[in-house]
Amino acid sequence: MDFDYDTNNIFAKILRGEIPNQTVFENDHALAFRDINPGAPVHVLVIPKGPYVSIDHFARDASPEEQVGFFAAVARVCEVENLSQGFRSIANTRTHGVQDVPHFHLHLIGGKQLGAMLPQS
Ligand code: 5GP
Repeated sequence: MDFDYDTNNIFAKILRGEIPNQTVFENDHALAFRDINPGAPVHVLVIPKGPYVSIDHFARDASPEEQVGFFAAVARVCEVENLSQGFRSIANTRTHGVQDVPHFHLHLIGGKQLGAMLPQS
Protein backbone atom coordinates (compact mmCIF):
# COMPACT_ATOMS: atom_id res chain seq x y z
CA MET A 1 0.00 0.00 0.00
CA ASP A 2 1.15 3.54 -0.80
CA PHE A 3 0.90 6.14 1.94
CA ASP A 4 0.92 9.71 0.60
CA TYR A 5 1.73 12.23 3.31
CA ASP A 6 0.23 15.72 2.99
CA THR A 7 2.76 18.16 4.44
CA ASN A 8 0.02 20.78 4.80
CA ASN A 9 -2.08 18.82 7.28
CA ILE A 10 -2.84 20.60 10.56
CA PHE A 11 -0.58 18.42 12.70
CA ALA A 12 2.36 18.97 10.35
CA LYS A 13 1.77 22.69 10.89
CA ILE A 14 1.72 22.15 14.66
CA LEU A 15 5.02 20.24 14.43
CA ARG A 16 6.55 23.10 12.43
CA GLY A 17 5.37 25.59 15.06
CA GLU A 18 3.04 27.34 12.62
CA ILE A 19 0.00 26.66 14.83
CA PRO A 20 0.11 26.80 18.65
CA ASN A 21 -0.64 23.80 20.80
CA GLN A 22 -0.93 22.94 24.47
CA THR A 23 1.99 20.55 24.82
CA VAL A 24 1.77 17.87 27.50
CA PHE A 25 5.02 16.08 26.67
CA GLU A 26 7.64 16.02 23.92
CA ASN A 27 10.68 13.91 23.10
CA ASP A 28 12.87 13.48 20.02
CA HIS A 29 10.29 11.38 18.19
CA ALA A 30 6.87 12.37 19.47
CA LEU A 31 4.71 15.29 20.57
CA ALA A 32 1.73 15.02 22.92
CA PHE A 33 -0.75 17.89 23.11
CA ARG A 34 -4.32 18.58 24.20
CA ASP A 35 -7.12 18.01 21.70
CA ILE A 36 -8.73 21.33 20.76
CA ASN A 37 -12.21 19.78 21.20
CA PRO A 38 -11.85 17.45 24.19
CA GLY A 39 -14.30 14.60 24.59
CA ALA A 40 -13.42 13.98 28.24
CA PRO A 41 -11.49 15.70 31.07
CA VAL A 42 -8.29 14.23 29.65
CA HIS A 43 -8.02 14.18 25.86
CA VAL A 44 -4.45 14.15 24.61
CA LEU A 45 -3.20 13.43 21.10
CA VAL A 46 0.17 11.73 20.73
CA ILE A 47 1.76 12.11 17.30
CA PRO A 48 5.06 10.97 15.83
CA LYS A 49 7.34 13.73 14.55
CA GLY A 50 7.91 11.79 11.33
CA PRO A 51 5.61 11.95 8.28
CA TYR A 52 3.27 9.01 8.86
CA VAL A 53 -0.36 9.18 7.79
CA SER A 54 -1.81 6.40 9.92
CA ILE A 55 -1.10 3.77 12.53
CA ASP A 56 -0.51 1.05 9.93
CA HIS A 57 1.89 3.34 8.04
CA PHE A 58 3.76 4.07 11.28
CA ALA A 59 3.83 0.40 12.32
CA ARG A 60 5.19 -0.64 8.93
CA ASP A 61 7.71 2.08 8.14
CA ALA A 62 8.80 3.90 11.30
CA SER A 63 12.25 3.01 12.64
CA PRO A 64 12.61 1.14 15.93
CA GLU A 65 13.83 4.39 17.51
CA GLU A 66 10.75 6.27 16.32
CA GLN A 67 8.44 3.54 17.57
CA VAL A 68 10.11 3.34 20.96
CA GLY A 69 10.08 7.13 21.25
CA PHE A 70 6.40 7.27 20.37
CA PHE A 71 5.37 4.71 22.97
CA ALA A 72 7.65 6.26 25.57
CA ALA A 73 5.61 9.44 25.06
CA VAL A 74 2.37 7.48 25.49
CA ALA A 75 3.66 6.08 28.79
CA ARG A 76 4.74 9.50 29.99
CA VAL A 77 1.37 11.08 29.19
CA CYS A 78 -0.39 8.34 31.15
CA GLU A 79 1.76 9.26 34.14
CA VAL A 80 1.52 13.03 33.98
CA GLU A 81 -2.21 12.99 33.26
CA ASN A 82 -2.90 10.56 36.14
CA LEU A 83 -4.56 7.91 33.99
CA SER A 84 -3.93 5.09 36.48
CA GLN A 85 -7.66 4.33 36.68
CA GLY A 86 -7.76 3.67 32.96
CA PHE A 87 -8.35 5.39 29.67
CA ARG A 88 -9.18 4.73 26.04
CA SER A 89 -6.68 4.91 23.18
CA ILE A 90 -8.05 5.36 19.68
CA ALA A 91 -6.34 5.67 16.31
CA ASN A 92 -9.02 6.56 13.78
CA THR A 93 -7.80 5.43 10.39
CA ARG A 94 -8.84 6.50 6.86
CA THR A 95 -12.43 6.55 5.63
CA HIS A 96 -14.05 3.71 7.56
CA GLY A 97 -12.31 4.84 10.72
CA VAL A 98 -13.39 8.47 10.19
CA GLN A 99 -9.88 9.94 10.35
CA ASP A 100 -10.00 13.70 9.92
CA VAL A 101 -6.32 14.61 10.19
CA PRO A 102 -4.00 12.57 7.93
CA HIS A 103 -1.06 12.47 10.33
CA PHE A 104 -1.01 9.44 12.65
CA HIS A 105 -2.32 10.37 16.09
CA LEU A 106 -3.31 8.33 19.08
CA HIS A 107 -6.15 9.78 21.15
CA LEU A 108 -5.68 9.17 24.89
CA ILE A 109 -9.05 9.80 26.51
CA GLY A 110 -9.90 9.51 30.19
CA GLY A 111 -10.25 11.29 33.48
CA LYS A 112 -13.79 9.93 33.98
CA GLN A 113 -15.77 6.73 33.57
CA LEU A 114 -16.27 6.29 29.82
CA GLY A 115 -19.25 4.73 28.11
CA ALA A 116 -19.49 1.96 25.52
CA MET A 117 -16.73 2.01 22.93
CA LEU A 118 -19.02 1.99 19.89
CA PRO A 119 -22.69 2.93 19.49
CA GLN A 120 -24.84 -0.18 19.11
CA SER A 121 -26.03 -0.70 15.54
P1 5GP B 1 -9.42 12.27 14.02
O1 5GP B 1 -10.87 12.31 13.66
O2 5GP B 1 -8.54 12.56 12.83
O3 5GP B 1 -9.04 11.01 14.72
O4 5GP B 1 -9.21 13.38 15.12
C1 5GP B 1 -8.58 14.60 14.90
C2 5GP B 1 -8.61 15.34 16.21
O5 5GP B 1 -7.80 16.47 16.08
C3 5GP B 1 -10.00 15.82 16.64
O6 5GP B 1 -10.32 15.26 17.92
C4 5GP B 1 -9.87 17.34 16.68
O7 5GP B 1 -10.57 17.93 17.75
C5 5GP B 1 -8.38 17.53 16.81
N1 5GP B 1 -7.88 18.75 16.20
C6 5GP B 1 -8.17 19.23 14.96
N2 5GP B 1 -7.51 20.37 14.72
C7 5GP B 1 -6.80 20.64 15.83
C8 5GP B 1 -5.91 21.68 16.18
O8 5GP B 1 -5.64 22.62 15.43
N3 5GP B 1 -5.33 21.63 17.41
C9 5GP B 1 -5.60 20.59 18.28
N4 5GP B 1 -4.97 20.62 19.47
N5 5GP B 1 -6.42 19.58 17.98
C10 5GP B 1 -7.02 19.60 16.77
